[in-house]
Amino acid sequence: MKRLSITLKITLWFTIFMLILSAIIFGFIALVSESTADHRVRGLLTDRVESNVQQIEYDDGELEIEDEFVSYQHGVYSLVLYENGQKAAGYAPYPELEGGGLVDGQVRSLTVSGEGYLVYDRLIPFPEGNIWVRGVAPESGSAISDSAMYQAALFAVPLLILLASAGGYLLARNSLRPIQNISETAEAIGRSGDLSKRIAAGAGEGSGNGDELQRLAATFNRMFDRLEENFQAERRFTSDASHELRTPVTVILAQCEYAFENASGEEELYEALGVIQKQGYRMSRLIEALLRFTRLEQRTESPEFGIVDVSEVALGVCREQRELSEKNISLSWEIQPGLRMKADAALLAQLLGNLIKNAYCYGKEGGSTHVTLQQQGGELLLSVRDNGIGISAEDLPHIWNRFYRAEKSRSAAAGAGFGLGLAFVRQVAELHGGRVRAESAPDRGTTFIVSLPGAWAPESIGPQKTAEGGSSKSRMA
Ligand code: ADP
Repeated sequence: MKRLSITLKITLWFTIFMLILSAIIFGFIALVSESTADHRVRGLLTDRVESNVQQIEYDDGELEIEDEFVSYQHGVYSLVLYENGQKAAGYAPYPELEGGGLVDGQVRSLTVSGEGYLVYDRLIPFPEGNIWVRGVAPESGSAISDSAMYQAALFAVPLLILLASAGGYLLARNSLRPIQNISETAEAIGRSGDLSKRIAAGAGEGSGNGDELQRLAATFNRMFDRLEENFQAERRFTSDASHELRTPVTVILAQCEYAFENASGEEELYEALGVIQKQGYRMSRLIEALLRFTRLEQRTESPEFGIVDVSEVALGVCREQRELSEKNISLSWEIQPGLRMKADAALLAQLLGNLIKNAYCYGKEGGSTHVTLQQQGGELLLSVRDNGIGISAEDLPHIWNRFYRAEKSRSAAAGAGFGLGLAFVRQVAELHGGRVRAESAPDRGTTFIVSLPGAWAPESIGPQKTAEGGSSKSRMA
């Protein structure tokens, strides 16, 4: 069976609720109108009989019934009976009601042929003999259908239910329109793959003032924004990566062609081979960086998080990098010992390694690089400062983008990489719940600051030995 839409479900529930409510109201009306009708019929019956009693008298031993005697009016039958039960005048709807069981001054119920009747008798004692006046009227149960209230309710209730159902349907449909929009947009995106489509959620969208559904639509739109952004970034990444790989492949092919066609001796062949090898290494480095990057991004290589002595890691990287220094650049550090946090030691080492390598790469001949690590509040601050070529204000916001290289650095630094190093640094910092920023002045130098959250105090990780020197700082050059 086809499932009902939410709009129809709400309308159905609403209608059922209205039906139950109407039944209760209608029952109540019936009860009230029955009791008022019963009251009314009894009044009519006794009034009619009492007024007919006035129209009867004996004149010269003759029973006289005045013209004002009314045999039937407003559903009330009247008749006159002798003491022996014989009918003198008037009539009742059934012969069974025209005599027998006379009781003075009491309204009684009688059933004849399945129908209920109210009967009221009045005894008029005359010297000539007793005369009875009887009134008969159908019981209120049958009179109820005549009641104006009942008639009105019978007509008004179905109309009310109809109107309420139609109103409920329109209300539900309008309220649920954003859901319809959301599903249509999601379907359109799924069909066309066009992530630029957005849900039209109406007034209040995005302002936080809309109703729950408009806020839901706004949330979906923000999700589409992020998806589109990520999708475009992925596309750029693939195209940039292909572009980066194309250059060395072109060089390799050109060298091969040259070697085959023009190389005249061993020396030239070696020269071509050297160029090919250099490009091969470059490609290999790029592929390695790409793999490392995408694995980290897709979390296929889940970082090995554990309690890490960041101070030890940083010290190790600094000692190693000092040996690899270029352009006579000196490396110094100031590392607060015993700083621990939950981290992946290998990733943190790569992060710091990347920053120091950049400092060498974009540093000036005989320049200096300084690494600091300290705890500040609940944060762990790692900074790498150099006095190199610096980064222009225009380039600064873009250096974190994958494959981005500032124009100046391309010419200034011969060994510059692929523009993936800082994107990797940022990714590692964010993976650890941290942030990274850069301050730079062209020709004066750059400082990278990585802030990592929740440095672990030595006592909070159990019976570990407090680092020698406590918070004292070790300085090396
Ligand atoms: P690359 O592999 O090209 O160094 P990065 O992502 O590490 O890529 O850096 C991106 C760009 O940021 C570099 O091309 C360079 O222009 C700039 N940059 C990074 N570090 C420094 C630095 N220490 N001094 C000056 N410029 C830098």
